[in-house]
Amino acid sequence: MIAKTREIADVLNLTKSLPTIRYTKPKHVYVSITNARCAKADVYVKTGDKVKIGTVLGKRYGGYFEQNMHSTVSGTVTGIVKKFHRTGKLLEFIEIENDFKDEREESIYERSEEEIAKYTREDFIERIRENSVVGLGGSSFPTYVKFQTKDPIDTIMINGIECEPYLTTDHRIIMEYPELIMQGIKYCLQAFTAKKAYICIKKKYDDLYEVLSAVIKKYPELPVEIKRVGNYFPQGWEVEMIKTALGIHVKHGELPSKYGIVNFNVSTVVGIYRAVKFNTPVIERNFTLTGDGIKYPSNIRIRIGTPLVELVELCGGYDGDCDKVLIMGGPMMGANLVRDDAVCTKTCTSVIVLKDKKIKEEPCIRCASCVYSCPCGLQPVLVMNATKNKDVDALKKLRVDECIECGLCGYTCTSKINLTDYMRQGKRLAK
Ligand code: SF4
Ligand code: SF4
Repeated sequence: MIAKTREIADVLNLTKSLPTIRYTKPKHVYVSITNARCAKADVYVKTGDKVKIGTVLGKRYGGYFEQNMHSTVSGTVTGIVKKFHRTGKLLEFIEIENDFKDEREESIYERSEEEIAKYTREDFIERIRENSVVGLGGSSFPTYVKFQTKDPIDTIMINGIECEPYLTTDHRIIMEYPELIMQGIKYCLQAFTAKKAYICIKKKYDDLYEVLSAVIKKYPELPVEIKRVGNYFPQGWEVEMIKTALGIHVKHGELPSKYGIVNFNVSTVVGIYRAVKFNTPVIERNFTLTGDGIKYPSNIRIRIGTPLVELVELCGGYDGDCDKVLIMGGPMMGANLVRDDAVCTKTCTSVIVLKDKKIKEEPCIRCASCVYSCPCGLQPVLVMNATKNKDVDALKKLRVDECIECGLCGYTCTSKINLTDYMRQGKRLAK
């Protein structure tokens, strides 16, 4: 199947037109005990325990929230092992051997629309918290916390912009699951008693516009509209999306809820739908494995906790006998993966494999390209100098904390300096 679709990928040099294939039967899955947002956890299972899809394996604790960990296959707990997390950290994971029976916990069942129609905001929060829905666009922010806002919300924004090059998971979600997106929006409108929902997509994607227009017509009772926004990066950044779509400028340090707005990624809204309708945790997600270093770039529906190496194998392995660079996420904001024995967690949208074209950094020529490119109005070249000098006062004056790590300054740098790395270091120093 992958070989057949390669021709299309070659022509377009993208995966956006490739239908999603399924890889939902890994031999083992791995569930991280801690993660970037949660440093503490309780584990409820031990080696030898039998589990089903949806079994609660433990609970993680963040600063002000908690997350259940769920099994994404049925089978047996085979131990606690160390694996690489998407952040590049070596963490402990619960290893589960798949029995391929796909037995589900009894708590997973279909609720009627009549029952859901009576839900209060608290009921939605309960379902979403218990099923550990998080920002599936990659943010990993707990969705139930957004639902807990005390600000009155009248507008729901659905982010389908996916502005980084190569990424196509959201594109495929919209093309393949438009009904689920609408159902998720329906629940969000009900929970927040909001007046309006906007689905934001790039202006250039007529295919998305057609699919969404058709599905919106099926729900005349829902106040949902499409907003076709810019084709540029970082249009998908929520501040930029809200500015373009609604003309509202959310200032640094403010939350969109101050303006009566709450945002969800298209994948997250599908996760909300499944959590509410079927009481099911996020057990699968859409994932893209792409780049010129992989034989058959593909969109894949995966079980959460699948080892990346299995997906590389599924896609025909690496292409070409040269060094490769692996990026978890987009090429602008993603993180380098030092090795491929990482685990695909629920916030892994994609991995890009690129043939390593060694780039040599040159000294800064003070051209100011980085300054002109920064969407936050920062001066990356000065931040770089302050970081090198470990000058914390200067870093604070330069407002390094406002950097969104979009990668544009490094991308446009005439001297090929990895400025984003200096921004990250500078932010850490200033903290
Ligand atoms: S990485 Fe930070 S400093 Fe660089 S362009 Fe993006 S926001 Fe500006
Ligand atoms: S873009 Fe690069 S070379 Fe130009 S001022 Fe910024 S750091 Fe220096």
